[in-house]
Amino acid sequence: MHEGLGRAVIAVDVGATNLRVGIFDLSASLLKVEVTRTPRSGGRDAVADLIKHIADNMLRSLGIRHVVGVGVGTIGPLNIREGVVVNTPNNPIRTFRLKAPLEEFFDAPAYVVNDCVAAVWGEFNAGSFRGAKNMVYITLSTGIGAGVIVDGHLLLGKDGNAHEVGHITVNYKYGVRCGCGGIGHWEAIASGANIPKFAEEVSKNWLGSKTVAYFLACKGSLTSEDLFKYWRLGDEFATYVINELVEVNAAGLGSVINVYDPEVITLGGSIAINNTDFIEKVIESVSKYAINRMPKISLTSLGEKAVLIGAAYLILNTPEELPKIQGSTHQ
Ligand SMILES: [Zn+2]
Repeated sequence: MHEGLGRAVIAVDVGATNLRVGIFDLSASLLKVEVTRTPRSGGRDAVADLIKHIADNMLRSLGIRHVVGVGVGTIGPLNIREGVVVNTPNNPIRTFRLKAPLEEFFDAPAYVVNDCVAAVWGEFNAGSFRGAKNMVYITLSTGIGAGVIVDGHLLLGKDGNAHEVGHITVNYKYGVRCGCGGIGHWEAIASGANIPKFAEEVSKNWLGSKTVAYFLACKGSLTSEDLFKYWRLGDEFATYVINELVEVNAAGLGSVINVYDPEVITLGGSIAINNTDFIEKVIESVSKYAINRMPKISLTSLGEKAVLIGAAYLILNTPEELPKIQGSTHQ
């Protein structure tokens, strides 16, 4: 191995489906990125072991010998003091360590936060609204979550779960149960994973035309991709479900505005990024649910890399709140 570039930051996005590992230089340029499937079996170090393997190969190929730090944005929930994912509903491994094994292997400090917390830190440092002191990043994806900055401070909470906005109750009538056990939660109705269940629930009382989307929904197999496709084709049932989802998302966003009073809300996640026509309808409906002055609402300018870029900034510009709650065992 030659001396090469010398120093770099490892950034990691541990998603429900995909694991992204990136190497950034100290001026925040992404040198290399690799995307693979997040491990769904193995022990408590299975995820960290794969990160170590991938990052180590990337460092070698780039000729980098010194890792300044490792930033991780991950699916939750977290024990943020330990940097451990605890009992996550989104991966059968359930509980896995990230901070300790990564610090030990790379001989550098590692910081681990919720993926949306990383993403809002990415927005704060590198997004098109950087500089705004009050911002919220929301992902509409397999799940629904947020990262929040108020008065320039990154909100973390006692366990690192300060902003589980996906579990805001937005509708008490539909009996759809959330992965957390609650009823009527934003995520239970409008997340990618739960849209088929919600559409099935709507189909039970449907009195309109029995369309293609309706028959798929009856079987619980109207996926979010199907739903958006049939909506664009003018399917009556799909249009009804979409209109319900517009209001549910608008109510969720309205609650976020009322609670955090942001200047800016940026939206990420596959449902938002892949369905801009739907998101425009959601944004049009938000104001009737908000009491606070409306913020700007737009898609993230960082695209699918929002979490990864934010993870890099956990090291490049460490939020002052983080070392207090997640002190590095590495020194
Ligand atoms: Zn819930």
